[in-house]
Amino acid sequence: MPDFDKLKKIILSYNSFLLTTHVNPDADAIGSEVAFYLMLKDLGKKIRIVNHHPTPYNLEFMDVDKKIEKYNPDLHKNIFDDAEVLVALDFNRSDRMVSMTKAFNESNKIKVCIDHHQDAEEFADACFVDADYCATGHIIYDFIKKTGIVPLTYEIAYQIYAAIMTDTGSFRFERTTPEIHQIAAELLEKGVIPGEVYDKIYDQGKFSKIRLLGKALDSLKLYGDVKKISYMVLTQDDFKNIEAIESDTDNFVNYCLSIENVEIGLLFLELKEGFKVSFRSKGEIPVNKLAKEFGGGGHINASGARIHNGKLDVYLSKILKRAETYLN
Ligand code: 5GP
Ligand code: MN
Repeated sequence: MPDFDKLKKIILSYNSFLLTTHVNPDADAIGSEVAFYLMLKDLGKKIRIVNHHPTPYNLEFMDVDKKIEKYNPDLHKNIFDDAEVLVALDFNRSDRMVSMTKAFNESNKIKVCIDHHQDAEEFADACFVDADYCATGHIIYDFIKKTGIVPLTYEIAYQIYAAIMTDTGSFRFERTTPEIHQIAAELLEKGVIPGEVYDKIYDQGKFSKIRLLGKALDSLKLYGDVKKISYMVLTQDDFKNIEAIESDTDNFVNYCLSIENVEIGLLFLELKEGFKVSFRSKGEIPVNKLAKEFGGGGHINASGARIHNGKLDVYLSKILKRAETYLN
């Protein structure tokens, strides 16, 4: 368990906080930021939330006070000086902040990292990282419950529920323990309605998202003699033709794993510069190690890598060949 007394001390000792999260933020990233913000707001603190990427449209409803800003180096020159404490949520490698990384690393303010991924890089002064937690929102829940720093309100419970629901794949991934269901029960008792959260996050997608899914499924292939690897590719042209965006691809990669016998699923996205790979696996196959070979990381069964200075067609067969070596 992270040293919650230490985190509490930091929070109570300072007045102004800058919160940030990783590139392409998901519901755990946004939910953790907003839950942490609501907690600090309750304590009367000064808070800003600034991220490299804008909030994906389907998660905008979570930003209840419209506090989240997209980083603009000209507009946000002073944010690192104005805050006493910088809080990095839901990531533990500084390059995951992309355009904010340099300014963050160069700042002499107190840096806090709260996260649940493996292979942490110690880029902060105080790290509260534990990969046993199913979501960063789960750590924040535990922190609030164990320290009693603020009451667990409906508003905070809502953010934590969204974070846990999405990072556990709607309560089915390995870390969905009895404890997680007990926490979920408590969040429901606070008034959270599961169907409402699910509908807002997953069932209000743009038409373009489903058309992009069609493209992705059309590209689906099985790889190797044993057909245990499946992959999909989306090009920049696919995105342009359909007017879709990167966050529209959320969860597409799971279709690869829904095929019988398949143990590793890969989604390749061509970016404006370079490309991104999502890695997913079943059972004991550590795709975080595979992702790490290409400069990425994540969890055992769900990882990613962004290669900004390489061409997808050059890397595709290389990555598939490496993936094959991870099969049981
Ligand atoms: P996704 O494929 O859904 O974008 O990411 C799956 C998991 O891998 C997430 O937990 C995410 O934090 C991690 N991940 C994705 N991309 C990267 C990356 O470029 N670097 C690292 N270190 N982790 C990543
Ligand atoms: Mn997370």
